[in-house]
Amino acid sequence: MNIVLLGPPGIGKGTVATKLSKRLGIPHIATGDMLRENAAQKTKLGLDAKPYMDKGLLVLDEVVIKMIKERLQKKDCKNGFILDGFPRTINQAEEIGKEIKISKVVNIQASDEIIIDRLSKRKVCKKCGFIYHLVHIKPKKEGICDKCGSELYQREDDKPKAIKERLKVYGKETEPLIDYYKDKGILADADGSGTPEEEFELVLKAVSE
Ligand code: AMP
Repeated sequence: MNIVLLGPPGIGKGTVATKLSKRLGIPHIATGDMLRENAAQKTKLGLDAKPYMDKGLLVLDEVVIKMIKERLQKKDCKNGFILDGFPRTINQAEEIGKEIKISKVVNIQASDEIIIDRLSKRKVCKKCGFIYHLVHIKPKKEGICDKCGSELYQREDDKPKAIKERLKVYGKETEPLIDYYKDKGILADADGSGTPEEEFELVLKAVSE
């Protein structure tokens, strides 16, 4: 099954996708994670992308499309995959649609208030990437990852100025994808305003319908 998780930054796509990937046995592919890994390793792609990411702007379509096409050719994608953070523009959706048939797009929604709260209280593990929320998914020991013992950090783009920009960009560039996939008859909605467990169950239900 080829799944796309659609929804604003902070809605919990990464957390849901990690669980969904375990449940369905297909890889979780997050373009944001791939770009951050490249930036941390100081590859050319990562260094070119970083200024856009830090400001909350989209990285150029051609860069992201090339990166994702290469990733989807890997063997582990042959039974399906979960895309998180891709596509983010109509152009990206059209380009990927030329090569791959998407089976289901789940549009996860919540109010702006909830989204801003989640982004501003998000902490991520430097090493394994596990996502915490300082109230709802709290680490046992402050600032330390429960899973691997590494340090937690706040993403540069989870700071207030970049959050504002990312929500603006989402509305302008990514939200039109809701109608784009609705017209194709493959869109399902899921409420993302509950607990991480509730959100996961609703997305699972939407995927299974
Ligand atoms: P995310 O982790 O999905 O919130 O992505 C973090 C940042 O990576 C975004 O704000 C963009 O700068 C960049 N990015 C991730 N995915 C894409 C994409 N599909 N198209 C363009 N930029 C992207």
